[in-house]
Amino acid sequence: MTDAKLETDLHAYMEESATEPRSIGSGKIREVDAQPSLVIRCPVCQSLCRKHTNYNLTACPQCRHIYQTDLNVTVSYDAEYAHQYDTRPVKAMSELRWNFIRSCLELPTGSRILDVGYGNGAFLKRARDAEMSVFGIDLHTEDFGIPVVSFDTPLSYDVACFFDSLEHFPSFAPIFRLQTRHVVVSIPNTPDFVLTAPQRWRHFKPGEHLHYFSRDSLDALMRTWGFPKRLAEGYPEDDLRGKLKIDGRTFDNIYTAIYTRA
Ligand SMILES: [Zn+2]
Repeated sequence: MTDAKLETDLHAYMEESATEPRSIGSGKIREVDAQPSLVIRCPVCQSLCRKHTNYNLTACPQCRHIYQTDLNVTVSYDAEYAHQYDTRPVKAMSELRWNFIRSCLELPTGSRILDVGYGNGAFLKRARDAEMSVFGIDLHTEDFGIPVVSFDTPLSYDVACFFDSLEHFPSFAPIFRLQTRHVVVSIPNTPDFVLTAPQRWRHFKPGEHLHYFSRDSLDALMRTWGFPKRLAEGYPEDDLRGKLKIDGRTFDNIYTAIYTRA
């Protein structure tokens, strides 16, 4: 990284980021040059980001990814965590998710469906009812009747699903080892105020949600993994989970996208 490139990146950040304090000017660039610890790389696109301390959140000037600066996980993904979904309408949600996938992808009987962060297994049980072969990855060790695999299991899947799970990964490297034809992602839809007033948003969860994706950053992550083509997108889960009303404004709640190889 040359000094010139560093300056260019930081200038771009300052010009593009409306939430960056106005007081930061060329004097700060020299300070950053002198203190490389103030600069970190975007976990999605590897661009230089000026490290923030407000709410422990940093924004990437390139792909507009917002992430917990220290990427430090403090929640415990144990059986209790997985069971918190037991009282929610998981059956209706699984039906809705399955129908959204089937409206987009041809999946013959026996197709291999992987759910990363499968929780209590509700979605995979719905897929199994449709005569799919199902597999799950999760951090809990509770037996929910789902065949468990790891990121290194030598299997290739037809669909790899990430429902409310992609935003939890401190590193995306394990995900890139998975072999699959399609990817389904559901993530919180990042509102425009998250850098300035994140506590107003129910999906701001320090130590648990480490990533707040933009459209660009999700596309960039999928492109890096080998899925440059977005086949479908929308907010199907909002039919059940609702839109968010915050300070008199209405926001889409959960964004879903399906990706495939070129
Ligand atoms: Zn980035």
